Amino acid sequence: MKNTPFNKPHLTGKETDYIKEAVDSQKISGNGVFTKKCQQFFESNYGIKKALLTTSCTDALEMAAILINVQEGDEIIMPSYTFVSTANAFVLRGAKIIFCDSREDHPGIDEDKIETLITKKTKAIIPVHYAGVASDMHKIMELAAKYNLFVIEDAAQAIENTYTFPNGEVKALGSIGHMAAFSFHETKNIISGEGGLLAINDEQFIERAEIIWEKGTNRSAFFRGEIDKYGWVDIGSSFLPSEIIAAFLWAQLENIKIIQQKRLDIWNFYQDQLKGISLKTQSIPEYSTNNAHMFYLVCNNPDERKQLIQILSNQGIGAVFHYLSLHKSPFYTSKYEGDELKYSDHYSDCLVRLPFFYNLTQEEQQKICLLIRANF
Ligand SMILES: *Cc1c(COP(=O)(O)O)cnc(C)c1O
Repeated sequence: MKNTPFNKPHLTGKETDYIKEAVDSQKISGNGVFTKKCQQFFESNYGIKKALLTTSCTDALEMAAILINVQEGDEIIMPSYTFVSTANAFVLRGAKIIFCDSREDHPGIDEDKIETLITKKTKAIIPVHYAGVASDMHKIMELAAKYNLFVIEDAAQAIENTYTFPNGEVKALGSIGHMAAFSFHETKNIISGEGGLLAINDEQFIERAEIIWEKGTNRSAFFRGEIDKYGWVDIGSSFLPSEIIAAFLWAQLENIKIIQQKRLDIWNFYQDQLKGISLKTQSIPEYSTNNAHMFYLVCNNPDERKQLIQILSNQGIGAVFHYLSLHKSPFYTSKYEGDELKYSDHYSDCLVRLPFFYNLTQEEQQKICLLIRANF
């Protein structure tokens, strides 16, 4: 019996050719030809003002926290149902995390609860586009304008998706907040093993971002010939990846349309085959497109989820749950002073992700769906 894992990285075939090109060019540190190609791709396709490749989405979030100048005691609002890096990037700078509940119909942040959490110390809101599905960015940007807050989109899963504003304007996710962070971790739609990108949409951050990216030096400006020598001008770190990673990533970005079409076919097949089961399937609000990042089901209780994972696992199928609410994590639970986060806990207890990767076959999908339909 063939096993179906939860994830399998997909290669387009060009990755090693481009890596060889980078190696042969003898320019394998960062910010070279492939890095610029990848950054340009994000700027021209998604309307991002300045894109900087990073070694991870985690790093991009850390850069954003430095750029908005988070100080000890500043409050940062984000969903509790998210990956640790969303919070850690700000905790590293001394911030207090204010966790917000998920929506009833979606694990993303409940936009209508954000305002009650805003205080004089609030500095930023971090919407996480869970499963790539857009948070309601119009509501969030309005709140940010009203209270003078920054918005940093955790767009780790959101490549290729758009949000439609109430006035009909359509914008790519990652191009709406002051900044955004993307991930190319091997579990995402477009991968480079580890990798990420900081998207900057508010021009005031661009110059300093390049400095922080290059270890606190003005090396980028030097290489553009804008200054005659470079030196230490600010805090910073080594946030830029090598050209070897950028070369890999470029092979993926070049094939993004093909990859996305395949993923959408897989997503639609699941959605179609699982109509009418007694578990909740994914719903996507009208203002968001679907980038087929994942396919999840929401069980009615933790026991049911355990049963579902077991039934699939008995047949060699890797279905997995996802985040555990961060406000209940070993690191944060004693620091948490807020209310119960009912929906965040519900998704922690009841959400299951089905196998989802480029080379998943229709026979495998059929088998998964038959098993689920027979039992739920
Ligand atoms: C994957 C992911 C991250 C972390 O991305 P890395 O590139 O692994 O650092 C952060 N936030 C969310 C929502 C993610 O899904």
